[in-house]
Amino acid sequence: MSNSGCGSCSSSGEGCSSSGCGADPREAKLIQQVGRIKNKIVVLSGKGGVGKSTVAANIAVALSLAGKKVGLLDVDVHGPSIPRLLSLSDKKPHIETDCMEPVPWSQNLSVMSLGFLLPSAEDAVIWRGPMKIGMIKQFVTDVAWGDLDFLVVDCPPGTGDEPLSALQTMGQDAQAVIVTTPQGLAVDDVRRSVTFCRQVGNPVLGIVENMSGFVCPDCGKRHDIFNAGGGERLAKEMGVTFLGAIPMDPEMVRAADEGYPFLKVHEHGPTAEALLTIIKPMLALSGSLQETKGGSQELPELKDLSNSDGVARIAVPCAQGRLCMHFGHCEQFALVDVDLKDRSIKNVTMETPPPHEPGLYPTWIAERGVGLVLAGGMGARAQSMFTDKGVRVLVGAPAEEPDAVVRKYLEGSLQLGSNTCDH
Ligand code: ADP
Repeated sequence: MSNSGCGSCSSSGEGCSSSGCGADPREAKLIQQVGRIKNKIVVLSGKGGVGKSTVAANIAVALSLAGKKVGLLDVDVHGPSIPRLLSLSDKKPHIETDCMEPVPWSQNLSVMSLGFLLPSAEDAVIWRGPMKIGMIKQFVTDVAWGDLDFLVVDCPPGTGDEPLSALQTMGQDAQAVIVTTPQGLAVDDVRRSVTFCRQVGNPVLGIVENMSGFVCPDCGKRHDIFNAGGGERLAKEMGVTFLGAIPMDPEMVRAADEGYPFLKVHEHGPTAEALLTIIKPMLALSGSLQETKGGSQELPELKDLSNSDGVARIAVPCAQGRLCMHFGHCEQFALVDVDLKDRSIKNVTMETPPPHEPGLYPTWIAERGVGLVLAGGMGARAQSMFTDKGVRVLVGAPAEEPDAVVRKYLEGSLQLGSNTCDH
């Protein structure tokens, strides 16, 4: 990657110790490195064999193909499979005294895995907890990732040392993506993973149901052969977003066996579409950080926002009757109800929220059945809290009367500008 190279992480963190501030130089360097990663996606699963590594690799590739700078970190100490999935097994990272360069897969995607450091694929690693934790921290601190839009972390299954360490190393804004298969048993394990993330204090970006239905190699269509929908039901039950369902596709197995990511070769069809749907909330997350204008945000479809009554409720934070540019300064929310049938505005009510405290508005808004918030400016953390509650957010909307803003959204003429509150 152009902006990495060991020079870019060569600050050994000694600045702090030599300046006498007393901070641990390794911790200081870790914080500095993590600060260069805009979005951290930690891919988890309740159990092995659900396709977690395959999904993690394809998410990383999809984001990189969308033009994002991406790192893919494989912290599966016992079965690092990312090098094989990307045909990088024979590659070795360039190592300098205090720094390692990740292995490039493309200009936009760099990879690091313990698999690169083992003498051969058959070698096993016998490490206890503290060593694994040290390794994960080292893979963030001492690898010259450079500035990244996304770091995608592939964790081993379960809720053990590695996922815990990965989340703690990345910080509280690291978002978990939980991969499951539709069967009841796998779904039960996901419940544990969601609870685990909540206990650690990290948001769950959503659940992916993998091997959901089957893509027929003859006709290319998707058929539901087992129970599909377990992941989606669980997502609803646990109040987390359902990111999408990837079918069981023989081409996925072929891709994995031959060492190329599925998306590199297949752009169309149900499996590619499912993968591209799954990364949309991630792309929206990166749009929210304003390294581009609001144009990169995905405008959700009205039908995806509607409740069972055929009504979609959209909230607009307002000050003095107009959309307010700073979310934290809002005095009232306009709750705008839109009829799904004819896309007309049925009702607008103004409600005064409880006194502003971090984390309060997302719950308050979700309780009112809101599917979308149209905001001027909103910090990344607040946005992820809304996403966590299943409420979409678009930022950069103009400071106009709430019904005018919603009407523009309905007509497809809403122009999203900069996020005026990017903190
Ligand atoms: P995990 O990381 O959860 O242990 P892997 O990603 O290693 O799982 O996948 C396990 C196996 O399932 C691999 O052989 C992989 O090719 C296959 N697989 C993963 N996802 C799919 C899919 N959607 N369709 C068909 N096979 C899949």
